[in-house]
Amino acid sequence: MIYEAPVNIAAIGPYVLSPLPFAYGALAPVIDAETMELHHLKHHQAYIDGVNAVLAGHPQWLGLTIEEVLRRLPELPEEIRETVRHQGGGHANHQFFWKTLTPGGKGRPSGALLAAIDRDFGSYPRFKAAFEAAGLTHFGSGWAFLVCRPYQNFRLEIITLANQDSIHSLAEAAHGLLACDLWEHAYYLRYRNRRADWLKAWWDIVHWDSVAERLDCIRQGRRQS
Ligand code: MN
Repeated sequence: MIYEAPVNIAAIGPYVLSPLPFAYGALAPVIDAETMELHHLKHHQAYIDGVNAVLAGHPQWLGLTIEEVLRRLPELPEEIRETVRHQGGGHANHQFFWKTLTPGGKGRPSGALLAAIDRDFGSYPRFKAAFEAAGLTHFGSGWAFLVCRPYQNFRLEIITLANQDSIHSLAEAAHGLLACDLWEHAYYLRYRNRRADWLKAWWDIVHWDSVAERLDCIRQGRRQS
């Protein structure tokens, strides 16, 4: 199937690296400034450069957000599909990841979010343990996500994906609520090989208010920022 691109839409791409809403050192001691700067300026930028380079020859796709491109991955020409999956996925995953972090953390699950966590995981401590276990047992590079399944009564689910695979490319709709980067580049300078320590420390910088807002948007069918 070939995507028949609209021709008169304003171009969204080439994609660009958005500045972070906090300084590189602001997440310390959980994430040190050097890791954050490398992660954002080098790793994330490289994924953006990679997807822009491959889509430069297929500019109609640059009229879509990266999330929409990833949703329509099977419609992409086969010769660029894998590159877009990896590079475009890397761009989308990091763009989302930054939104889930805030200096010192913000809020704790409460209200409707806590009720959903209790319903689907038993309790907040059990959810945390399950998320850490999923991240720890995921083999190799990838991501751990908390997602909401809109067609399963808005059920919350923990999933891990390999490499830079995207929740937007999943066969069944899953909206992202929270993500933790399991690539060594996310934690190696400070935590070395101790992914378990990274997963435990990471809770302290989770932006729970944004998670709650995202769940609210999903349930109301509103467009997410
Ligand atoms: Mn990363």
